Amino acid sequence: MRVHDSLIELMGDTPLVRLRKVTAGISAQVLAKVEYFNPGGSVKDRIALRMIEAAERSGELRPGGTIVEPTSGNTGVGLAIVAQDRGYHCLFVVPDKVAQDKIAVLRAYGAEVVVCPTAVSPDHPESYYSVSDRLARETPNAWKPDQYSNPENPNSHYHSTGPEIWEQTDGRITHFVAGVGTGGTISGTGRYLKEVSGGRVQIIGADPEGSVYSGGSGRPYLVEGVGEDIWPATYDTTVADRIIAVSDKDSFGMTRRLAREEALLVGGSCGMAVVAALKVAAEAGPDDVVVVLLPDGGRGYLSKIFNDDWMADYGFLTSTSEEGLVGDVL
Ligand code: PMP
Repeated sequence: MRVHDSLIELMGDTPLVRLRKVTAGISAQVLAKVEYFNPGGSVKDRIALRMIEAAERSGELRPGGTIVEPTSGNTGVGLAIVAQDRGYHCLFVVPDKVAQDKIAVLRAYGAEVVVCPTAVSPDHPESYYSVSDRLARETPNAWKPDQYSNPENPNSHYHSTGPEIWEQTDGRITHFVAGVGTGGTISGTGRYLKEVSGGRVQIIGADPEGSVYSGGSGRPYLVEGVGEDIWPATYDTTVADRIIAVSDKDSFGMTRRLAREEALLVGGSCGMAVVAALKVAAEAGPDDVVVVLLPDGGRGYLSKIFNDDWMADYGFLTSTSEEGLVGDVL
């Protein structure tokens, strides 16, 4: 029989799919690493598994323990799947800008979820950083993976995402583009690709306008899972050759085009990364191979990005960006 004993065996090894429509007029190849093929539906399965296994080995996570983490949802799902398999409890802290659907998903997997305000500074006692620290201290037998400082976050990408992309492109990749949240994806994958190519592969980060990575101060933006108002330890400042800031409007417009033109129903940070990738690809030549990582699927955003009323309320439906990337006009 061809059977898997656990979903954990299916984490990683995601496909690379060519973008064919949104790339009109571009000679470079643009290939999407589609991370919603992971069993938890996002790239974060990779870090969840590696962080838990390292904590089991070090003794920080003991049998029957509770995993406490601030997470925008995707890391929580990955942690919840591995936790179920191994008998741990999960207690997650999320900012209130996260879609209700995503919170419902975490609860469906059996996790407890605490929602905190987005509009407070990181050191405020009600911020999701502060609340998760307090819960980690107060909960017996708790372990906090801390995806913002845990070296196993970038390490998971160094050991899985990077080698997969190198092998899938037969070493022909010339540019790697990824959104930056904790920085784990770009730092780990980027470090591997730089090393294996002798520095040849260009590493490009994409982040929302207003985030610190592109020189902002943490001004609020709506795209979820990327951008920061603080510099996390998991972001290696030496890896990215370039950071491209993308507006919410362009990110969401491209996210809708990916669903409608490429049949890729993906999240807002995917649209953001593709806007940056197309900018890079437009400047590249026919021999170039641009790989863009798409972190998650779009079903968690149906009431926002894929909802015309929500998009119209923010003025995202009607205009055209400088790059000529047309938002979804009613
Ligand atoms: N997109 C989404 C939807 C995410 O949840 C995350 C993780 N925060 C990212 C992008 C960014 O990945 P990383 O944390 O590895 O920088």
